[in-house]
Amino acid sequence: MSPLSINDQVKKQKRQVKKGYPVINKFETIEEVNEYLGGDRIVCLLCGRDMKTLGGHLRQIHDNMTCDQYKKRFGIPWRRGLICKESSKNYANALNKRVENGEDFRSRLPEYRKLAHEAPHRKKCKAVIGAATQRAIGHHGLDYQYKDSDFLIVLQLMVEKQIDLRTLCAENDSIPQETSVYGWLKKHPKMNQKYYDICDSLPYSIQSKCGIMGPRFEKEVKQLHSQGKLPKEIAEITGVTIMTIWRAIKK
Ligand SMILES: [Zn+2]
Repeated sequence: MSPLSINDQVKKQKRQVKKGYPVINKFETIEEVNEYLGGDRIVCLLCGRDMKTLGGHLRQIHDNMTCDQYKKRFGIPWRRGLICKESSKNYANALNKRVENGEDFRSRLPEYRKLAHEAPHRKKCKAVIGAATQRAIGHHGLDYQYKDSDFLIVLQLMVEKQIDLRTLCAENDSIPQETSVYGWLKKHPKMNQKYYDICDSLPYSIQSKCGIMGPRFEKEVKQLHSQGKLPKEIAEITGVTIMTIWRAIKK
């Protein structure tokens, strides 16, 4: 057996895998991913070495593994870079400077288009799905069971803030989210009626955001119409689209 050259020895040493590596599990939540990528250095989950960026290391030490392969294996979102926080900032700053200095990135447009085209076909990783679900169910998490009183607060807030359900939920993640509210309304016909009444009481432009135009609106539109007002004028008076006026008149 021929002795290893110094270069080979260095390579062999670099290939050494630390105890506890490679990591078997994938990241399950976006918080885990953020924590992993949020440090001063990034640890290679295959061998345990830490560095500023992973791309070159994966190529050289882990048989030309690509960043995409690595992200897929460990459940890291496609859009995240395998780069520590500081390097990520430096990279963004450098890029901004290049743009400021008038560098033209248009020659790379075909490449960017290709990436953008491919993006939707990539399966979302669990951490991303987890974050989306978390947003959908609110910050209490899956284990929290909303009580009737929580939903009543939502209805109350709609009245107080004169706001539609979607906007209210989007602005506030400490209350049950839209889909939960609809589910609750379905189970409680009386509350469903109350929801309709609330929508009916809101300004017409807000009602149209709810997708519900109540009897108050219809009555007023028909009245204005019978007074000879044109749909365009009625739309201006009520603050909704002409289409919505047409639909009310035709009813
Ligand atoms: Zn490694």
